[in-house]
Amino acid sequence: MSPAAKVLVIEDDLHIRRLVRAALERAGHRVAEAATAREGLALVDIEKPDGVLLDLGLPDRDGLELIQLIRARSAVPVLVISARADTSEKVAALDLGADDYLTKPFDTEELLARLRTALRRRQADEPMLVTGDITIDLDHRRVTRGGADVHLTPKEYAVLAELARRPDRVISHAHLLRTVWGPAHESQVDYLRIVIRGLRQKLEADPAAPALIRNEPGVGYRLVI
Ligand code: CA
Repeated sequence: MSPAAKVLVIEDDLHIRRLVRAALERAGHRVAEAATAREGLALVDIEKPDGVLLDLGLPDRDGLELIQLIRARSAVPVLVISARADTSEKVAALDLGADDYLTKPFDTEELLARLRTALRRRQADEPMLVTGDITIDLDHRRVTRGGADVHLTPKEYAVLAELARRPDRVISHAHLLRTVWGPAHESQVDYLRIVIRGLRQKLEADPAAPALIRNEPGVGYRLVI
């Protein structure tokens, strides 16, 4: 398989981890391994993998929660591998930002094929947006203003990235809340308001008269490019 990628495998079952590592290495990938959610999250930051394979049944934290935490940090493709076959969980994983879902037991060839697709799709999906003196580089998680890096909190970045993936379109409050905070927080519009205020302070020429992140009252927000 080409190109070779760095893949993080978050899975507490040692047998499956070894099996997956062997398949990935045969395909030319580099592999990092974590047996817990805590370790996995740390390695997302440290290793900056090109793809994540995530088991939902982890000892220290629910995998669905982990998807949200990964998404708040990174746009890395996440492929879920789970023993749970029910559709609602699959939908929840995809809603939270997972790219694909495989049910155990799975064929390693299929795993490699799905990973390849997720890596390719993500590369094609993440353009660099430029508007005025602002650039938003989703591939590298980098936002600049007048050429200087803008420091955003993980939540600010996650909201901005959601808006930037569909520029000039209204993204609903519910969608932003579900994607960034999780389904339980879908109606917490006040969370979103605080984060939008922070983004405007950092990105707008006049935060009181926002031209970049527009309000659609009662509906959502739109990133104007
Ligand atoms: Ca497990």
